[in-house]
Amino acid sequence: MTSFFKASVETLPSALLKQRSDANERAKKSRVGKVWLVGAGPGDAELLTVKALRAINTADIIFYDYLVSDDIRALFPKNVPAHYVGKAKNQHSIAQEDLNQLLVKQAQLGLTVCRIKGGDPFIFGRGGEELLELRTAGIEAEVIPGITSASGCSTYADIPLTHRGLSQGCTFVTGHAEKSLDVNWSALAQLNHTLVFYMGLTRADEIAAKLLAGGLAADTPVAIIENGCRRDQRDIVSTLSEFPAAVIREQVQSPALIIVGEVVRMKEKLQAQVQLHVSEKQYLLA
Ligand code: SAH
Repeated sequence: MTSFFKASVETLPSALLKQRSDANERAKKSRVGKVWLVGAGPGDAELLTVKALRAINTADIIFYDYLVSDDIRALFPKNVPAHYVGKAKNQHSIAQEDLNQLLVKQAQLGLTVCRIKGGDPFIFGRGGEELLELRTAGIEAEVIPGITSASGCSTYADIPLTHRGLSQGCTFVTGHAEKSLDVNWSALAQLNHTLVFYMGLTRADEIAAKLLAGGLAADTPVAIIENGCRRDQRDIVSTLSEFPAAVIREQVQSPALIIVGEVVRMKEKLQAQVQLHVSEKQYLLA
C-alpha cells in the first residue's frame, strides 16, 4: 500500500506536483485557528473538566483573567505563551472590545487560542459577548462550561444550594452594574429560596437594605465565601441584617460570594456531624 502510493506520487508529472505543493502552501496560509472559551471553575485545579485541560494542553496561546487560580495557572504548558488580560475590579485590564479583537486576530493567524476564565464563561463571565464577537467575525469558537463559583463555593462550604424542605430553588444575581442595580428586589425577597450574589461585596449595604425592605426576615442566614475552592477559603456566617458589618469587620476580599437563605443553616448541621464523629473516634481511641 505504502509503496504503491509512493510510486504513484513519484510518477506524477512535475507540473501537477508543483500545483499540489502550491495548494498546500495556500491551505497553510489560510488556516484559520479556533478559539476555545474555557471555564476554569472556581479555583481548585481538580475541578477543571477533562475537556478544559485538553484545551489548555493543545493551545498555541493562552489568555487568562484574574479569577484563574495559581493552581490552574501552574498547569499551563511552559512552552506556550500565556497572557494576563485582567478584569479585576479597579485594576488595569484590557478593554473588552480590545480583547475581542485580540482573540479574532490570533485565530486569524491560524492559532488555537485558549481564552480561560474563572467559573463558567456563560455565568456573569461575558462569554456570550465574546462568542458572538468571534462568530460574527467568522471565527470558529466553542465554549467549555466550568463549575460556576456558586456551585463550587457552596459545596466546599457544606451548603447545599437547594435542600428539600428548605429551598426549592436558587437564583444567581449580579451585584455589579454600571450605575444602580436593576433588580426586582421585592420579587427576589418573596421567592423564598436561595439567592446567590456574585460581585456583591461592594454593594453589601444595598443588598441587605433592599432585601429587608422587600420583606426578607432580618435573621435570614447569610454566608460569605471568600476565595472559595482555594487553599485559603474563608466562610463567614452571619444574618441578613448583620452581614454588611461582617464584610467590614472581617475585611473580606474579592473574590467573594454572598449566599442568602435557609440552606446556610445546613452548614452548621453538617459540620456538627463531622465534629461528633471526630470526638467519638477520639473517645474510642483514648
Ligand atoms: N464566571 C464566574 C463569575 C465571574 S463574576 C463564575 O461562573 O463563577 C466574578 C464574581 O464571581 C466574583 O466577584 C465573586 O463574586 C464570584 N467568584 C468567582 N470565583 C470565586 C471564588 N473562587 N470564590 C468566591 N467567589 C468567587
